[in-house]
Amino acid sequence: MEVNVLAKKYIDFISECKTEMECVEYAERILVKNEFVNIDSAKEIKAGDRIYSKLHSKNIIAIVVGSDDIEKGCHLAVSHIDAPRLDLKGRPFYEEHGIAMAKTHYFGGIKKYQWTAIPLALHGVVALKSGELKTFVIGEDCEDPVFTIIDLLPHLDGKVKRDKKMPEVISGEELQILFATTESESEKDPIVKFIENKIKEEYGIELEDLQSADLEIVPAGRARFVGIDSSLIGGYAHDDRSCAFAALQALISSNEVPKKTTLCYWTDKEEVGSQGRTGLASNYLEYVLGELLEKMRKNYSEQLLRRILWSSFALSADVTAAVDPIYAGVHDLKNAAYINKGASIQKFTGHGGKYNASEASIEFSAFIRKLACDNQIDIQFNEMGKVDEGGGGTVAHFLESKGISTIDCGVPVLSMHSPFEVISKKDLSDLYKLVKAFYTVK
Ligand code: MN
Ligand code: MN
Repeated sequence: MEVNVLAKKYIDFISECKTEMECVEYAERILVKNEFVNIDSAKEIKAGDRIYSKLHSKNIIAIVVGSDDIEKGCHLAVSHIDAPRLDLKGRPFYEEHGIAMAKTHYFGGIKKYQWTAIPLALHGVVALKSGELKTFVIGEDCEDPVFTIIDLLPHLDGKVKRDKKMPEVISGEELQILFATTESESEKDPIVKFIENKIKEEYGIELEDLQSADLEIVPAGRARFVGIDSSLIGGYAHDDRSCAFAALQALISSNEVPKKTTLCYWTDKEEVGSQGRTGLASNYLEYVLGELLEKMRKNYSEQLLRRILWSSFALSADVTAAVDPIYAGVHDLKNAAYINKGASIQKFTGHGGKYNASEASIEFSAFIRKLACDNQIDIQFNEMGKVDEGGGGTVAHFLESKGISTIDCGVPVLSMHSPFEVISKKDLSDLYKLVKAFYTVK
């Protein structure tokens, strides 16, 4: 796919999908359109079949069954679709001085000050006691109102803010959303009462329903091209939806039956440690592969499943930091990733003395180099930051623990984890080509 076509598709995707659920629904739509079938409704599965499985609208695994015996292993690309954000608390509202505020609890590693004084949108899924799910979005349509977090004016912040260290400039409890100022006719808590009436009338939601809801506050508005040459893309949650998007597009881009059984796995909770049913530390992958095997052949066994995992290869597709001219000093410039230099490859992640790192084998690393070379794809081996500067992990080690040979790859990002992250459309395209080459390997 041509670089600009891919970039425009991608801009639509991250503009419209700002929560895990919205991403999974998008993927399911695309998959169904491309003749993928939900594994639960597939009776028998054979080479060439296209299937998928989804979990709680937070994980989705799409599979194309290859012509090779599955015992020889699969090729996977794994990315995460959760992103740093603010979740509304279960009882969010209070009012003071004529303003109703909504309290939040942040998710993932954010620089809290970056979330003040910008337009924010609310993307919600509410489960009613009846079991019915209500979804809504406020703040994305240009006719919609948006929300914001108030910051203190510089004229008055001398004592309260100016001498504080960066993480203390605004505390977690201070990340509160300016929600409403209109009073209702009623007596007690008049603005909160107004909010209560409004969500009941417009969305059929009671205040108490919010206690069990997923209510995500995210940056409002569409992603955009950045730079006078439009070479870059700015938007929310390139980490890690850029890699998730590239992998899904790569999977659906070919109509041929691949040699290897290929999987595109979108996971959740990477930003907070990959725990729980929807994080990669779960055994959802084993569960789905087990379902697949049961429907493919009669001799299913635990050992067969293990053999497949231990013969498989994965791209842990997640973003890395790109060098920027202002803070180049945090990188080892001889081993850093640069904007427009291609898909990033990391033999290992982690921090300090390679703590918490999973390191790709030399053979798999060399295979990726050859794959890129044979297909004329620009890649750049890199380490994120100077040795003792900090560091970060990916889901690679969870995959390796399952027995899957794994290497990290991705797209270099500027302003990572901010409300407006920046990537290059060329690097996105190179990652797409790399995953496609990996899926269609002969
Ligand atoms: Mn990530
Ligand atoms: Mn991240």
